[in-house]
Amino acid sequence: MISKNLLTDEAKNIMESVNTFCEKEFKDTLKWDAEQYMPYDLWGKMGEIGLTGIMLDSDLGGLGDDLLLAAVVMEEMAVYSPAIGMTLGAHTILAGNVINRAGNKTQKEKYIPDIAAGKKIASICLTEPEVGSDAAHPKTKAVKKGDYYVINGTKTFITNAPHADIFVVYATTDETSEKRNVSAFIVEKDFGNITVNKLNKMGMRASPTGEVFFDNVEVPVENRLGEEGDGVYIMMSGLDVERIGLSGENIGMMKGSLKEASDYAALRIQFGKPIIKYQFIKDKLSYMFTQLELNRCYLYSLANEWNKNKGSRALRAPTAAVKLQSSEAAVKCAEEAIQIMGGTGYMEDTMPQMYWRDAKLYTIGAGTSEIMKLIISNDIENRYTTF
Ligand SMILES: Cc1cc2nc3c(=O)[nH]c(=O)nc-3n(C[C@H](O)[C@H](O)[C@H](O)COP(=O)(O)OP(=O)(O)OC[C@H]3O[C@@H](n4cnc5c(N)ncnc54)[C@H](O)[C@@H]3O)c2cc1C
Repeated sequence: MISKNLLTDEAKNIMESVNTFCEKEFKDTLKWDAEQYMPYDLWGKMGEIGLTGIMLDSDLGGLGDDLLLAAVVMEEMAVYSPAIGMTLGAHTILAGNVINRAGNKTQKEKYIPDIAAGKKIASICLTEPEVGSDAAHPKTKAVKKGDYYVINGTKTFITNAPHADIFVVYATTDETSEKRNVSAFIVEKDFGNITVNKLNKMGMRASPTGEVFFDNVEVPVENRLGEEGDGVYIMMSGLDVERIGLSGENIGMMKGSLKEASDYAALRIQFGKPIIKYQFIKDKLSYMFTQLELNRCYLYSLANEWNKNKGSRALRAPTAAVKLQSSEAAVKCAEEAIQIMGGTGYMEDTMPQMYWRDAKLYTIGAGTSEIMKLIISNDIENRYTTF
């Protein structure tokens, strides 16, 4: 496939390692989905082959701040378990990378090695019951009292929350300022008065999601990331990283859907012929191939570009575009795979039905499809984009 030409040797190697690892360790993926069970016992093993260290500095035990590597790890993992991929991504591409990018030397040396080794589980806390798409205006407050901030508020839909040791929390520090009102903090579970309520979901069921309550949690000033008021910048650049990295999962689900559906269509005989011979089926398979390959080319190019121009504002609209297009295509490809597999595709022991439920998440999480369209169209309106 042409898209593979855009991969570095390092990316090809890690893709192969993830494939070997998942082939061996993820045999119970459909059972974990049904039981809403996340095998955290695999976390240490993932750490051994570097997976918990993606997007983290190599001198601190990570695989390096390389978004192409992150995207291909997500791609290959999603073929086997999108839910475990998302859980890993929230730990390292989201929470870990924010500390890696915005943290000072002391913060990084204190937190990154344990995150990279998979010894501590990290989560990122933007969303609140009343604050979703408008994430830059959190109701959670951090009030400075001497050497501490006191954090009060509720975060919701937080991946990893039921098991997290570390929460990266965005909170309002200055209600009087429109622009520099939010700050980001590293909050340890042990700081006290943090409770978590596990939530049940339609998809990504093996990935634990929770509501987190911060009740007068005292966070040392040295745990603030950047300066007071830097929170929105840290959040927005983090969302760009998240959207590129996690779009890899959409590619993996398209790849898995195409493989399952084409294998099935080649073997399933109806009216005396394998159904792959029928034009309606060919139409669906060719659509799936095209979506997979175009989205993959676009994602790899964007990840390579990001690695060269980290944090570039010019990449925001293209990033929104890859997230928008790949997530919608992943849902559609999974749906087509179910259709090709007929009644078998509707059964719980097949992968496309899981991909379908899991892929739907990416039209919502990390910014909805509607918000992606707003980002793209605002850039066109403001002439940030050249054609
Ligand atoms: C499984 C799962 C895991 C998640 N993990 C995390 C996590 O780890 N950390 C975290 O912080 N969050 C997480 N989220 C939250 C996720 O990022 C939010 O759900 C998402 O940003 C949307 O926010 P909302 O659900 O409040 O929807 P809302 O913002 O309330 O949106 C509702 C609807 O209104 C539309 N809408 C909103 N504003 C506009 C507008 N201006 N123009 C047009 N349409 C608009 C939206 O597109 C959507 O269709 C997770 C969510 C899920 C489901």
